[in-house]
Amino acid sequence: MRYFSTNRFSADVTFREAVINGQPPDKGLYFPNPLPRYDEAFLKRMKEMSKEELALYILKPFTEDDIPEKEMKTIIEAAINFEFPLVEVEKSVYALELFHGPTLAFKDVGARFMSGCLKYFLREAASNTTILVATSGDTGGAVADAFAGVEHIDVVILYPAGKVSGIQEKQLTTYGGNVQALQVAGNFDDCQRMVKQAFTDDAITRKRTLTSANSINVARWLSQQLYYFFALQQWPYEEPPVISVPSGNFGNICAGLLARFGGLPVQHFNAACNANDAVPQYIESGAYEPKETIATISNAMDVGAPSNFVRILEIFEKNYALVKSNMSAFSIDDDTTRETIRRVYEENKYILDPHGAVAYTALQKYREQHGDAKGIFLHTAHPIKFPDVVSPLIDDKIPVPHSIRGLEKKKGHSLKISADFEELKQWLMRGNRITTN
Ligand SMILES: *Cc1c(COP(=O)(O)O)cnc(C)c1O
Repeated sequence: MRYFSTNRFSADVTFREAVINGQPPDKGLYFPNPLPRYDEAFLKRMKEMSKEELALYILKPFTEDDIPEKEMKTIIEAAINFEFPLVEVEKSVYALELFHGPTLAFKDVGARFMSGCLKYFLREAASNTTILVATSGDTGGAVADAFAGVEHIDVVILYPAGKVSGIQEKQLTTYGGNVQALQVAGNFDDCQRMVKQAFTDDAITRKRTLTSANSINVARWLSQQLYYFFALQQWPYEEPPVISVPSGNFGNICAGLLARFGGLPVQHFNAACNANDAVPQYIESGAYEPKETIATISNAMDVGAPSNFVRILEIFEKNYALVKSNMSAFSIDDDTTRETIRRVYEENKYILDPHGAVAYTALQKYREQHGDAKGIFLHTAHPIKFPDVVSPLIDDKIPVPHSIRGLEKKKGHSLKISADFEELKQWLMRGNRITTN
C-alpha cells in the first residue's frame, strides 16, 4: 500500500512515513492506494469473526508493509479493548455507542491505534519526538491517555482556558509525566494557530522533532473504519442501514465512506453537523466554502473548514453528483439539539450527549423523507462529559462510568500561557517539563 498526497505534488510514501509526517510537504492529505475491496465470502463470514480478527483483517492491507502481523495484532488488541455496542433506541433506530473507551469519546480508538504504531516505529529512536496538539476538548484527552507513559514520546497539549468542560480539563491535566498541558488565554483557533506556527518555526524544529496527532493522521483516520464493520456485525436486518455520523473535521464519516467503497453494505450516509454548515451548504449548492467557526453546544464538531473534506472528494473523484447520491448532510441548531435530548429521554429513557443528539436528529430527518428507512447513528461521546447541557434537560442523574470515578478529586497541572506564539516558543525551546506534585 502506498500513500499519495491529495495535492499530487509530494512523493508517495509508505504507511510509516505517512504516520510520522502527518501531512505531506505540499499540504495535501495522505490517501491510500490501491483501496481494498471486500468479497462476498468475507462479508458473510464477518459476523462470526471476533472484533480483533475483524480489525486485523481490515487494517492489515494498510499497514503490512511496515508493521509485521504479530505486532499489528498487539497494537489492535490494545486499541479496541472495550465494547462498541449497537443499542436499539426506538423501532428501526439504533445507537452505535463509541464512548466506552478510557476518555469516553470515540477518538480513543484512533489515538490509541496511532500511539501503538508510533511506539513501534520509534522503538529504537535515539531521541524523543514531541507530539504537539491543539484541542477544543476531546482530542487532547484521547491523545493524552493514549500516549501517557509511552517511551521516546513527549506530549504537549494546548487548550483554550475556560472553554473545555470540567471533566475534559481533568483528562488533559492529570496525567503528568510525559504529558504536558498548556492552558492558553484565548480560543481554540488561537491554540490551532500557535501549533501550526510551531511546525514551521526553524528554531523549534531544530531543537525538537515535532509531530502532530490530529485527525488527518492516517493512523487515526483509517482505524475509524472499524466502527462501521463493528456496527454491521451487530446489525439485525438484511436491509443495509442508513448511517448518521456527527461530523466536525469529517474524519469519521470519511472512514465510513472508505469502508463502503470497499463493499461494506451501507445504504446511505448522513453527515450530521451543527451550525457549522460548510458541507451541508456544499451538498445543497455544489459550491464549497470554508467558513469561520461558530461555537455550539456540540463543541467537538465546531469546525468551519473541515480538514477531511478533500478526502471525501478523493473517494468520489471530485464528482459532485456522486458525492450527493451517497451522502446527505444536515445542519441542526442548538435549540433542536436540546429538544431532541429532552424528548428522546422522555420517550425512550435514552440519554443522548449533544453530538449524538445531532446525529440522531439528522437520521430522523432523513427517515422522514425516505420511508422510515432503518438506521444507525453514531453516539460519539458519553453524556457525562457535557453535564451542563444534558442535566437540565432530563429529570434523572447521568450515570457516572467506572473509568472516570475519582477523576474529580485528582489535582490537575497545567501551565498558563498567553495566546502569543513567542511564549509557546520559549517554553518549547527550554524543553522543561511542568513539574507535577
Ligand atoms: C471529534 C468529535 C466528533 C467529530 O468527528 P470528526 O471525525 O472530526 O468529524 C464528533 N463527536 C465527538 C464527540 C467528537 O469528539
